[in-house]
Amino acid sequence: MIQIQNLYKAYNGVPVLDTINLNIRRSEIFGIVGQSGAGKSTLLRCINGLESFDNGQIVVNGTNISLLSEKELSSFRRKIGMIFQNFALLNRRTVIDNVMLPMECWHYPKEARRKKAQELLELVGLADKTMAMPHELSGGQKQRVAIARALTLEPDILLCDEATSALDPAITKSILELLADVNRQLGITVVIVTHDMAVIKAVCNRMAIVSDKRIAAMGDVADTFLDEPPSLLALLGKKELVVPPGQAILKLSLRDGGIDQAFLHGFVSELKLDFTIIAADVEQFYGTSAGHLYLRLDAANLEQARVYCLSKGMACTAVAAGGRPGGNDDVL
Ligand code: ADP
Repeated sequence: MIQIQNLYKAYNGVPVLDTINLNIRRSEIFGIVGQSGAGKSTLLRCINGLESFDNGQIVVNGTNISLLSEKELSSFRRKIGMIFQNFALLNRRTVIDNVMLPMECWHYPKEARRKKAQELLELVGLADKTMAMPHELSGGQKQRVAIARALTLEPDILLCDEATSALDPAITKSILELLADVNRQLGITVVIVTHDMAVIKAVCNRMAIVSDKRIAAMGDVADTFLDEPPSLLALLGKKELVVPPGQAILKLSLRDGGIDQAFLHGFVSELKLDFTIIAADVEQFYGTSAGHLYLRLDAANLEQARVYCLSKGMACTAVAAGGRPGGNDDVL
C-alpha cells in the first residue's frame, strides 16, 4: 500500500531522512515513533506529497508520487486524510461547516455535503454538536471533528501527526479507540506518528522506530517490545541488566497471557536448579499481551537452563555477569 524505498531528504543540504525503507500494509495501523527532531513528521509529509524529497521513491497504492504533476498530486491527496496535534479547525465556522470544508473544495453538491458530514459526526460521536463552534468543544471533541473532516473524501489512508499529544491520557484513549474503529469499520490504513510509546502499544499492529534520520527497527509491535532492539531501549530510557558476579539472568519472552504453568513446573521439577524470579514486565498491546520474566540463577547453570527453555519452545535471552544480553542462539 505504502512502499518507501531508499528515501533521502535534506533541508538546505542537511539530511533529515536517510535511506528510509518502509512497507506499510493495507488496512493496518502502523506507528512511527522516535525522539523529537528524528524526522517523523517530515516522513509523513513526504508520504502525502506535501513535502518533496531528494532521492528514492514512495509508491502509494501503486502510484509513484514523484511522477505526479501538480494537478495529479492534488487529486492523489484527496485519498489521504490527515489529522494534527493542534486540530487545525477554522474557529469561525461551526462544527458541521468545518467537516464540510474539504467537500466544498471539491464542489460536492450541497445536500450531499451535509448528509455526509452528519453521518461522519455521528460516527465520531458528535451528532449533538453539529452547530457548536470549535471554542465550545473540549480538545478531544475538536480532534473528533478533525477526524470526521479527514474522512469526508473517503480516504484510503489516514495520517495522524502527534494527534493525541495535546490530550490527557483518558481522552487519548478514547481518540485511539475511535481511530481503531475507523480502521476496522472503514478498512482505512492508519499511520500514526508519535513520540508517545503508550500510543503505539495501545493501537498499532506494526511499528517503526526512527532514530537519527533512519529506520532503526521495524516489526510487529509486541515482537519489537519482546526483542528490545537498542533503539527501543534508548527511547524507553531502559538500562542494561546489571548481573552480580557468579550469577546470570535468563530473560524469558512471553506472549499472549503470560507464562505457561506447566512450563514453570517442568523448569522446577526437571531441571532441579535454584533460581529466583526477580522481575516480570508483561504488558497489554493491541490484541495481545507480551513481556518478559527474569530469572536469576548461578552462572554455571545458565546454559543448561537456556537449552531447556529452547527445547520447550520458550524464547529466551541469557545474560551472564559482566556480559551483554545475547539472543536465542548466543552461546555465553
Ligand atoms: P519529528 O517529527 O521527528 O520531531 P521533524 O520531521 O519535524 O521531526 O524534523 C526533522 C528535522 O528536520 C529537525 O531537525 C527539524 O529541525 C528539521 N526540519 C523540519 N522541517 C524543516 C523545514 N521546513 N526547514 C528546515 N528544517 C526543517
